This record gives sequence, structure tokens and C-alpha cells, in this order.
Amino acid sequence: MTTAPESLALLADEAASCTACGLAEGRTQVVFGTGAPDADVVFVGEAPGAREDEQGVPFVGRSGQLLDRLLAEELGVERSDVYIANVVKCRPPDNRDPRPDEIAACRPWLAHQLDLVDPAVIVTLGNFASRLLLDTATGITKLRGAEYCYGNPPRYLVPTFHPAAALRGGAAVLADMRSDFGRARSLMMAA
Ligand code: URA
Repeated sequence: MTTAPESLALLADEAASCTACGLAEGRTQVVFGTGAPDADVVFVGEAPGAREDEQGVPFVGRSGQLLDRLLAEELGVERSDVYIANVVKCRPPDNRDPRPDEIAACRPWLAHQLDLVDPAVIVTLGNFASRLLLDTATGITKLRGAEYCYGNPPRYLVPTFHPAAALRGGAAVLADMRSDFGRARSLMMAA
């Protein structure tokens, strides 16, 4: 039997040659996910940007720096203590939004990652991850501020803004994110 870390590594190897959608044509590499394979909390973003595509690691740009800061300040952890992935694993051209067909093609990779890491809490960052995993058209402004159930076995899901929204939107968005991260921390401690 393979352990979760081995299985995640095998899954990442398999994903590295994925051609399930057109994003494969423009990518430098697949940005599969990073962090602890047995993390208690998984963060799900939207899609890799230019820096992530270059380095093969999610959230290494300005959004990632803010994510790291919130992890340290609100959860008391480093990024290596959690697992970080995206809804789509390849960079959309010109940083456009991922399209529904691309999200659908990539969804099995994320589902499999979540099964293997098996976290107590999933934090969705922004509209794309929140809408996908909660299977809703409702936007993040309405969804955030509460916890939801995801999957079977059920886990907690805490939707919050994407760090890029805090970088654009200033203090109020950042305060909401801090509060959502605090919710994730409490749920993680109770699990
Ligand atoms: N934004 C995302 O949603 N994911 C990344 O990996 C980087 C920026």
C-alpha cells in the first residue's frame, strides 16, 4: 500500500504531463501543489500566475506573500505546515480567469488531492475555489463569514477572499480575511 505522501507524489507525476485542456499548450510547467501531505488545513486558490508558472509552486508572488503573512499571524503556522493548491494547475494566458471547461477538466486532480491530504479544514480563497467546492453560483462576499461542509467524509470548508482582493481592496477585506482565518484555526483546533 502506498502512503499519502507517496500517492501525492505519484499523482503530481501523473499531472505533470496532463493535456486535458488547452492550458497545457501555454504552460511552462504544471503547478500541482505544495506543503505537508498530511496537513490539517488545505488552502485552495484560483490558478497559477506568471511567477508560479516559472517556479512550479503556488502562491509565490505578492498574493503568496500576503498568504504567508496571514498563515503566520492568524494560524501561527508556516506554509510548509499546510497544503496549498489551485482550482486549475496551469497558468491561463495573460492571467485571464480560468474557463468553465478548464475548471471541469482540472477538477479531478483537486478532488484527488483533497482525498489524499484528508484535511480537517479546507479554506477556499476567492470566488473560483469557493463556488467550485460549494457547488454554488453565490459570490464570495455573501458566502464568507460562515463555515460549510464539504465532501464525504464531511470536512469543514471556510470560504474567504482571495489575497489579491485584499491587496486591491485594502483594510476591510484584510480584516475579513483575518476573521476567516481565525475561524479556520478554531475549527482546526477542535477537530
Ligand atoms: N493566485 C492563485 O490563485 N494561485 C496562485 O498560485 C497564485 C496566485
